[in-house]
Amino acid sequence: MDYEVVIGLEVHAQLLTRSKIFCGCSTRFGAPPNTQTCPVCLGMPGVLPVLNRSAVEFLMKTALACHCQIAPRCRFARKNYFYPDMPKNYQISQYDEPLAQGGYVEIPTPEGLKRVRLIRIHLEEDVGKSIHGENLDDPRASYVDFNRSGVPLMEIVSEPEISSPEEAKLYLQQLRAILQYLEVCDGNMEEGSFRCDANVSLRPRGARELGTKVEIKNLNSFRHVQRALEYEVRRQTRALDEGERLVQETRLWDANRSVTRSMRSKEFAHDYRYFPEPDLVPLRTTPAWIDQMRVTLPELPDARMQRFVREYGLPEYDASVLTSSKALADYYEACVALYREPKVVSNWMMVELLRALNRDGMEVEQARVTPTHLADLLKLIDAGTISGTLAKTVFEDMYSTGKSAAEIVQEKGLRQISDEGALLAAIEQILAAHPNEVRDYRGGRDKLFGFFVGQVMKATQGKANPQTVNKLLRETLAREGA
Ligand SMILES: [Zn+2]
Repeated sequence: MDYEVVIGLEVHAQLLTRSKIFCGCSTRFGAPPNTQTCPVCLGMPGVLPVLNRSAVEFLMKTALACHCQIAPRCRFARKNYFYPDMPKNYQISQYDEPLAQGGYVEIPTPEGLKRVRLIRIHLEEDVGKSIHGENLDDPRASYVDFNRSGVPLMEIVSEPEISSPEEAKLYLQQLRAILQYLEVCDGNMEEGSFRCDANVSLRPRGARELGTKVEIKNLNSFRHVQRALEYEVRRQTRALDEGERLVQETRLWDANRSVTRSMRSKEFAHDYRYFPEPDLVPLRTTPAWIDQMRVTLPELPDARMQRFVREYGLPEYDASVLTSSKALADYYEACVALYREPKVVSNWMMVELLRALNRDGMEVEQARVTPTHLADLLKLIDAGTISGTLAKTVFEDMYSTGKSAAEIVQEKGLRQISDEGALLAAIEQILAAHPNEVRDYRGGRDKLFGFFVGQVMKATQGKANPQTVNKLLRETLAREGA
C-alpha cells in the first residue's frame, strides 16, 4: 500500500526576555539550581502573577513575521495537571483565546517554496526541571530545579501539512531562523530553548481522513527530529501493512537505540480541565501597539533570501538554503566580502561545507573552517596553486583540523604541478607504457584521451594542472602521430 505521511509540529520556544513571564526573576541559563526563584515562580499560595510586557511583544513580533492575525483580545487559562516540577499543579497557558492565529511559514523544498500554515501561537510559562539519578550516594534521589519555572514560552502549532521527515526538518530550520533573526529566541535545541513535539500519522495516498496520530517527544536536535520521524513512518507503515491497529499515544525518541517507545496513551484537552486564569485580566492589543511592533522587525529570512537572489545573482534554491539560519547567511556574506564570486562561494558552502556539517550533525557556528579560510582556499584555486579536485581534499583537512588552506598545501606538498617540462616527462612515460592505447587512439578511438589524462593525474597524485595536461597531451599525441 502506498501511504501519505502527515506531520504536524508543535514548537516550544523560550523567549529571550531578561525576566520571567509572571515575576521579576532572571531567566539566565546555567545559574546554580534554585537561585533564580521567588514565591511567584515557586507557586506559593496567595501570590499573584504580573504579565511581562516584553514576552507579549516578542510573540507579537513572531506573529507578524509569520503573517498571523494578532487577536485584539486574548486570555490566559489554567492547564491542570500534577507533576513534581510544577508545584502549583497548574500551568498558566492559553487555551481557546490564543494571542495569535493563522499565518504560515514558507520552506524551501527542492521543488520550490512550500507554505506550511500555522494554527496558532500562544504564550505560556515553562515549568521547573527534574533531575534524576545524579546523586551517586542515593541513585534513587531526584531533584527539582525551579530556575526554569516561569520562563516565558511561545508555543507555535502548525497545521498537519508537512509531508516528510525532511520537510519537518526544513520547517523547523526555517522557523528557528525567523526567531533568531527576530532575536526573540536563541534557538538552542541542546539547551532546550527550542523544543519540538511531532504528530505523525499515515493515510492511504489520496484519502481525506487523517490516520491515527502518534505524538513523539524528546526531539532535541534537527537530526533527531528527522531520524525519529523516519523511524516512526517505517514503524507505522509496517503496522498498517500487517493490519495492526495503531493507538493514539505519546512516544519518546530514544536517540541511543534509534527507536521510539511508548510513553503513555495520548492525553486529550479535557484531561487538563482548562479554565480561564482568574488572576490575570484579559489582554488587549491595539492596532497602534501592533504597528509599533511592526516597525521594529529586522530583515527576515524571506527578505534576505530575495536580496541574495538580487544582489548576488544566486538561484532561489541556493539563496533559501543559505539564509535558512542567520549564522549561515552571515557566514556566506563574510566569505563573499573576501572573495567576490558569489556563486562559487555558494557552491562550496552548499556542497562541501553543508555536506560535512550534516554528516556530523553540526551547526555552522561550530565549523572550524572560517569564512576567511574558505575564501583563501578559493583564491588558491584561482591562482593555480591547487586544482579544483585537490581543493576538495584540502577542504576536508581544513574542516577537520581548523588549519588554513595554505598551511595544508605546504604541509602535504599538494602544490599543483604546472611546470611543462615535468608534465611532459610524465606524459611521455605514460604513452610509452601504453603503446596499444596510443595506437587505438590514433586509429580514431578519441575516448581514450580521457584515459591518458587519468593516467597522468594518477602518476602525479592528482597534482598536475589539468589544463596544462590537456594541452600537452594533445600536442604530443598529434605530433607523434603525424
Ligand atoms: Zn520568580
